[in-house]
Amino acid sequence: MWSPAGLPRAALLAVAAAAAALAVAAVAAWRRPRPLREVLFFPSRPCCLEALLAEAAAPGAPALPCPCPLPRAETSLSRLVRRLLSARRSLDLCIFAFSCPQLARAVQLLHRRGVRVRLVTDAQYMGLHGSQIGRLRHAGIQVRHDQHSGFMHHKFAIVDRRMLITGSLNWTTQAIQSNRENVLVVDDAACVKPFLDEFERIWEEYNPTNYVFPKVSN
Ligand SMILES: [Zn+2]
Repeated sequence: MWSPAGLPRAALLAVAAAAAALAVAAVAAWRRPRPLREVLFFPSRPCCLEALLAEAAAPGAPALPCPCPLPRAETSLSRLVRRLLSARRSLDLCIFAFSCPQLARAVQLLHRRGVRVRLVTDAQYMGLHGSQIGRLRHAGIQVRHDQHSGFMHHKFAIVDRRMLITGSLNWTTQAIQSNRENVLVVDDAACVKPFLDEFERIWEEYNPTNYVFPKVSN
């Protein structure tokens, strides 16, 4: 049978079916979240994070202007903090050296907001001057550390078990403001899953019930 345009009806149907399939594929592609791939380099320009932290502490509340002279700019540090503050359920941290007060505030804020924060760190570095580990423990955050002579040298964070933040950066003001460092943010499950597994393995290995204390002889 011939259609009014002179094309076989079967051909018209095939074209219509192909167009429908393309439309379905386009909608599926549009709905699929784009993979997250963000690269941050340090040192980061100094910037004021007050507005960012205030908004995370009390969303929608009018923020008081900060009197500090630092610019409210988008920097590597502000982007890192923004990623961390996106946590809704959990934040798993494996950080060798943690002395940056701004990052400690962000982590504390998440803990207060009901996010389950677990922190693994290095036994030797957590005792150094300026370390934020004591402050975080005091705030009620679960912290575990190694018992080895080798360092717990990882620097990674997992947000909501689906976003991995990893790289060379230690969470110290010195590293953030002075060092050449890199941080990669991805949500590719093929990367996130092994880090999650490694975190759980280390978390259990550093369980205080497994600590070995030196024998004291009388
Ligand atoms: Zn400020």
